[in-house]
Amino acid sequence: MALKSVKIPHRKNTKDAKPIRMDAPQLLYFSAVQHIGAPAKPTVKIGDEVKVGTLIFEAAGAISSPVYSSVSGKVKKIEDMLQSNGTYQQCIVIENDGQMTLDESIKAPEINDYESFVSAVFASGVVGLGGAGFPTAVKLDVKDVSRIEQIIINGAECEPYITSDTRTMLDRADDIAFGVELLKKYLGAKNIIFGIENNKSECIAEMKKIAGVEVKALPSIYPQGAEKVLVYNTTGKVIEEGKLPIDAGVIVINCTTLAAVASYVKTGLPLVEKCVTVDGSAVNEPKNVIVPIGTPVSAVFEFCGGFKEEPAKVIYGGPMMGVSIADMNVPVTKQTNALIALNEQDATPKKTTSCIRCGRCTNTCPFGLAPVAFAKALEQNDMEAMKHLHANLCMECGCCAYVCPAGIPLVQQNKMAKAALAAYLKKEKEEKK
Ligand code: SF4
Ligand code: SF4
Repeated sequence: MALKSVKIPHRKNTKDAKPIRMDAPQLLYFSAVQHIGAPAKPTVKIGDEVKVGTLIFEAAGAISSPVYSSVSGKVKKIEDMLQSNGTYQQCIVIENDGQMTLDESIKAPEINDYESFVSAVFASGVVGLGGAGFPTAVKLDVKDVSRIEQIIINGAECEPYITSDTRTMLDRADDIAFGVELLKKYLGAKNIIFGIENNKSECIAEMKKIAGVEVKALPSIYPQGAEKVLVYNTTGKVIEEGKLPIDAGVIVINCTTLAAVASYVKTGLPLVEKCVTVDGSAVNEPKNVIVPIGTPVSAVFEFCGGFKEEPAKVIYGGPMMGVSIADMNVPVTKQTNALIALNEQDATPKKTTSCIRCGRCTNTCPFGLAPVAFAKALEQNDMEAMKHLHANLCMECGCCAYVCPAGIPLVQQNKMAKAALAAYLKKEKEEKK
């Protein structure tokens, strides 16, 4: 039995649009936070010369990732800047010299065994490119590879509009096939499952050509690509609360992430560019664009012919899990997979009315959570109740808000509930010390 889900319009308008590489703008902005985990630390100072592939931020802490320059030029500023998530983070501003000179240190890594493979993945700067941003080396660093029973390659791409993974599967099949070989060779993976939604028949056919991979055509439902949902729908395994997929013997890796790892192993050029789907009713020329990391969002839209009309909403990511941005200067990061600009008609939310206790939110939640009860517990500041409601499990997928007939902004409420519970649990832990 599959987990609960919703059927949403696909709007994969750019699925046939081969990615086009855009030139880097004059100024690029590299954030210290392009991954889940500790912010990376600058390795350059104002005035330093950099090249394509020069390390500009080093990883800081067990869960972190290095960042490399996507252009050659000079470090102009290092300052805190607004990011897509509304926080201010340290950014290195680089003035592009237009030469795109490659750093002399770039060479394919030497890999002889599992440890050197994980080190190479770390050095590549690759993180979960489906949007999650979890450092890939940390995910693959399972210490004992005999724990791995299955590796699932995520090609679901279930959010409306986004087709950047679709294009990876169609245009970079060689990189994915090489990535599969690496997984087999260094992780000893025997059972590799490729999960792809059945609305991507060309991708399914292409990936079936890769030897030693079982391709599963999955129903086109949302959120098919969410990690826990995908693991359950492909293997029947449940990832228990507080556990990771590897605790159930599973590693999940996004198809574009795997292609990026393969590309680094072949060339030694770390992750410096990202395929981004640019679409939405306000965009003049929707397309897939290969964007130098650090490029401001405004330059990417300009490359797509600007706007047909003033966008009423610009979403960083997909419409279900992405965030609205107010500042068009926020930069593209490793995690950016879509930029969606909507006109007034598409951006206007449903009129909000009172909750009618229909229960559709809970009945649609893949984990059977109760957002209405979160809101009540939050209002009453009853964090013990919140604990029992498992608000922490909410993955902010937006299914509940999508089906709510009262138009209640449930995801925003859920985020507040999760933050309050996290603060409560942290305090509780500190008091127990
Ligand atoms: S946003 Fe959270 S509560 Fe709502 S459906 Fe998704 S997981 Fe369930
Ligand atoms: S779906 Fe909306 S109206 Fe129905 S119970 Fe949930 S919050 Fe209330």
